[in-house]
Amino acid sequence: MNQVSLLRRRALNAGPIHADGAFVLYWMNAARRCGWNHGLEHAADWARRLARPLVILETLSCDYPWANLRLHRFALQGMADNARRLATKPVIYHPFVEDRRGQIPALLREWGGAACLVVTDEYPLRWHRQLLVRTAAHLAVRCEAVDSCGLLPLRATEHDFPSAYAFRRFLQRELLPHLLSPPAADPLDEAGLAVSDPLPASLAENWPAAAATLLAGDERAMASLPIDQQIPPVATRGGADAADQLLEGFLGQGLDAYQSLRNQPQAAVTSGLSAHLRWGHISSHEIVLRLLTREQWSPDRLAPDSRGRRSGWWGLSGNAEAFLDQLVTWRELGYNYTQHHDDYDRFDALPPWARQTLQKHARDPRPELYSPEALAAGRTADGLWSAAQGQLLREGQIHNYLRMLWGKKILEWSPDPHQALEVMIDLNNRLALDGGDPNSYSGIAWCLGRFDRPWGPERPIFGTVRYMSSRNTARKVAVDRYIQEYGVDREAP
Ligand SMILES: Cc1cc2nc3c(=O)[nH]c(=O)nc-3n(C[C@H](O)[C@H](O)[C@H](O)COP(=O)(O)OP(=O)(O)OC[C@H]3O[C@@H](n4cnc5c(N)ncnc54)[C@H](O)[C@@H]3O)c2cc1C
Repeated sequence: MNQVSLLRRRALNAGPIHADGAFVLYWMNAARRCGWNHGLEHAADWARRLARPLVILETLSCDYPWANLRLHRFALQGMADNARRLATKPVIYHPFVEDRRGQIPALLREWGGAACLVVTDEYPLRWHRQLLVRTAAHLAVRCEAVDSCGLLPLRATEHDFPSAYAFRRFLQRELLPHLLSPPAADPLDEAGLAVSDPLPASLAENWPAAAATLLAGDERAMASLPIDQQIPPVATRGGADAADQLLEGFLGQGLDAYQSLRNQPQAAVTSGLSAHLRWGHISSHEIVLRLLTREQWSPDRLAPDSRGRRSGWWGLSGNAEAFLDQLVTWRELGYNYTQHHDDYDRFDALPPWARQTLQKHARDPRPELYSPEALAAGRTADGLWSAAQGQLLREGQIHNYLRMLWGKKILEWSPDPHQALEVMIDLNNRLALDGGDPNSYSGIAWCLGRFDRPWGPERPIFGTVRYMSSRNTARKVAVDRYIQEYGVDREAP
């Protein structure tokens, strides 16, 4: 059996393994990629051990939260890449797209009935956990969930951390063995997979594979899906091919200016990989190891007594250290939080000091009040904020520095912090390609104090939560071209 750490896998039910089943089923629904994927690797190992074919079933539900055309097309493009990449491998790949709610658990019951066992993906958000529990409870065979979410297994910690600093200290002590146990770049490469039998005809007939037009993201093919049809697709392509290109481009160009220019919205030096990470089209292990190879890194460069300092631990250039701090410390801090708190999206999950100060100022007069609709359309008197919302509407992303301002202003312009939280979650997760990720909730909650500390002086509305204003932001970073490019006409119908 492979070395997928025990921390990374768990049984979702007590079902048996049917050694004489027709195939081993890997149900891909979060780590949507063919390589660097612990779940796929684990399923392939079961297939070798039982000498049965491996079937990879990738599903796209129509009722994940905020399902819409934009998000769906990004996911479908990933499925098209997987279909192409797996066509030459000794496995059966079956992409399934729901056209009615609730089909996936019924499909899994039927396919699971023919399988030896089911292996699937772990993901620490509520709706996903609930889907796994509901589905596994009705399976006649064993179902195992495998965690490919990050460098650190989700179950490697027993609690959350109050700050990036505290989490970084922990990582500096504990990360190395996990970093050095990456998933295989190509888990289907090794010999030993049974040559695939055709899928039992009834399974494919009852649950047909998505048509090529749908996988191509054809708008007519998507028009009949029961998802929000009002949010249009954007130009950014989903899928492993696009993720590879972004990573190549970033390692070749962006990285060398990352430390000095990452906060500059007009500089475009960041990786742009968050949406591909969100949809599982690329693995953080792959990104980190490719960067470390480029930097000719070896573990003896680690500085053992870094004490949670932001740079210096890896023994790398300032640019590489700054990038790894975002990709490893900040990204996995969010995953860690959702792993330990099911209420990650609720006001009550903010730290006590933040709740108290925001409550104390909840009734303070607001300089402006904008309805959720006006905010969604970007119709405010603040040109910089509206440009950030304009970028979100048009491209499905906002530069990180302006994203912080974006959230802070929603707090300032909403009737109270509870409504601000709701509006931020809704706009972010509906419009951003990387929305619906654990870091959607940590980024938004950061605007309200999570992972931060109190800042003086105490101000109206914010209390001691860190304050940001468009004027100060425009002083710190260049935004003229950004406003010109993404600005929204306030009077537009
Ligand atoms: C209000 C608000 C909402 C946010 N919503 C999301 C979201 O929905 N999904 C999401 O993935 N991130 C979110 N973030 C975090 C951050 O804005 C994005 O991860 C980052 O802008 C992605 O751009 P990039 O891929 O070019 O990042 P890079 O600078 O290239 O960083 C590399 C990777 O590190 C991770 N990362 C970078 N910055 C952060 C951060 N501040 N917190 C956590 N991880 C980070 C991302 O995975 C990113 O792809 C939010 C932040 C705020 C303030």
